[in-house]
Amino acid sequence: MVDAIIIGAGACGLMCAVQAGFLGKQVILLEKNDKAGAKILISGGGRCNYTNLFSSPANFISQNEHFSKSTFSQWTVEDSISFFEAYGIYGQEKTLGQLFPENNKAKDIVDVFTSLCDDLGQTIRLQADVKSVQRKEDGSFAVMYEHQGKSKTLEAPAVVIASGGLPVQKMGATDFGLRIAKEFGLKIVPTAPALVPLTVTGKDAEWFASLSGNSIFCRVSNERISFEENILFTHWGLSGPAILQISSYWRPGEWVELDLLPGRNILELIEQERQQNGKRSLLTLLAQLYTRKIADALAKYLPVDKNLASLSKADLQAVEQQIHYFRVKPAGDKGYDRAEVMRGGVDTSELSSKTLEAKKVPGLYFGGECVDVTGWLGGYNFQWAWASGFVIAQRI
Ligand SMILES: Cc1cc2nc3c(=O)[nH]c(=O)nc-3n(C[C@H](O)[C@H](O)[C@H](O)COP(=O)(O)OP(=O)(O)OC[C@H]3O[C@@H](n4cnc5c(N)ncnc54)[C@H](O)[C@@H]3O)c2cc1C
Repeated sequence: MVDAIIIGAGACGLMCAVQAGFLGKQVILLEKNDKAGAKILISGGGRCNYTNLFSSPANFISQNEHFSKSTFSQWTVEDSISFFEAYGIYGQEKTLGQLFPENNKAKDIVDVFTSLCDDLGQTIRLQADVKSVQRKEDGSFAVMYEHQGKSKTLEAPAVVIASGGLPVQKMGATDFGLRIAKEFGLKIVPTAPALVPLTVTGKDAEWFASLSGNSIFCRVSNERISFEENILFTHWGLSGPAILQISSYWRPGEWVELDLLPGRNILELIEQERQQNGKRSLLTLLAQLYTRKIADALAKYLPVDKNLASLSKADLQAVEQQIHYFRVKPAGDKGYDRAEVMRGGVDTSELSSKTLEAKKVPGLYFGGECVDVTGWLGGYNFQWAWASGFVIAQRI
């Protein structure tokens, strides 16, 4: 009999298994894929943005914004950095605190865990599709799984649900964590795709599609928050880091506002240019600020052919409106197959913030993406997965 059965050999489950091993506990990881850490391998474009130097609880969305504080005080960003450094992975900051392995290989991150599991005698059973978790009369658990066409059962005093969220089914994503939580009578915060591209349909669709492949550095806002990063026009709407970020805060039917020139004032720029050369067209100025394609496309909204000196008050108002307060009402999002994470999940009020154990079901733990703690884009979600795996390992 092992000390715990961990369901899911992803970021949270692998960290949990290794940390439990350091404490002399024996676990078995059950993973339905034929390899461990499938999502780690594809993360950050195969480079794995494994943490963020500026990670704090404020970068996470949850119905209880205080819930993650205890976990993050037990396993910090420095802990993630020094853990990987101990196994030869040094971080390189790309942008906005995002840390990637120096050699850009996500595989090295997975290798750290699989070789540590080997060294510590922790079993990773692949192609083990867990079907059910049942509590026995003595308080221990029976976990039933299918392996190579056969049904098998394992028993342990503790079970860790580290089976991730709904995004990217072909990577092994399932609703398993949510289903088990419901079966044990735990509440679920409604889930939705997050860090996901947004679609634009209707009369504006063609305009967005015509700019496909062009990007602009923007401030993207709604009533709750704003982000300054690139947006990317696509055939079906908008993507790019700033859009992925705001998507986690966006609700269907809401507008998103784009400041296409953050930190600068288009009217002041026009005034300066006017004084130097009032004969220049608005198009020439816009083509200096953006790609020519974008400047041409703005003709739909602005009198781009007029020269700067002849812009009327109404023209200037229109320029200010379109450049600093460009509004778009997305039709929807690209769904779980294009999302990086899931928003919502197991309601944190059901879990101890110190141990991540279900309050109603002693011995049952939830960590990683299946819990209602969703990070921003930029290494935050792995930080949560490592931290929650560590915290659970201390208790099982
Ligand atoms: C394309 C993409 C890129 C990303 N890039 C980054 C990034 O660079 N930085 C970052 O911080 N985050 C990134 N993320 C998010 C990050 O991958 C997740 O937040 C993180 O993997 C969650 O860890 P987890 O352990 O909870 O779940 P996962 O890593 O998803 O692991 C869960 C595991 O459970 C297994 N499983 C599910 N159901 C069962 C079952 N019934 N039986 C057995 N096994 C089961 C799954 O096969 C899976 O291997 C990215 C996500 C995607 C989709």
